[in-house]
Amino acid sequence: MNDKDASKFTCNKCGGHELTVTHIWNIQAGNASEKWQEWGPLNDNHYWQYEFKEKVEEHAEDEVQRGDFGEFEADDSVSEPEEHEIYEEERDRENDDFLVNCGNCEREIEFGWSQPYRHGLIFPVEFSDFDFLESWPDPKYVDVWQQRGWFRTGHIQP
Ligand SMILES: [Zn+2]
Repeated sequence: MNDKDASKFTCNKCGGHELTVTHIWNIQAGNASEKWQEWGPLNDNHYWQYEFKEKVEEHAEDEVQRGDFGEFEADDSVSEPEEHEIYEEERDRENDDFLVNCGNCEREIEFGWSQPYRHGLIFPVEFSDFDFLESWPDPKYVDVWQQRGWFRTGHIQP
């Protein structure tokens, strides 16, 4: 019982105490784009460990492109292809995505980082020791945090 009481996270939906961190990123190899994800548990000390890794299947890609009107014009206007840039191996970390979910019911948990540009430790909002003054929101939560007045001027990089 003491262990449960000491948990920093208790899901308000399922009562679970486990959190899962998922990291999603794209790899550009020639003209092909591969999507990968890795995930693992987030501990009470804000550290996490990826225990699983897999390639994400993107089966709906054709349909998405067909229905995506307005994108076709860009193809005609490309006068100077810069193919050499496509093969650049270094990934742009800014396009990566991070998710925190309840490890039991998979409910999305809002979170911030201990340092800007998504560096440092992960601070889930629902951790009992969460302090927004010490946290930089993950990019997808910037608007929400702004509405709450949860960050100071200069706290967030554009
Ligand atoms: Zn849950």
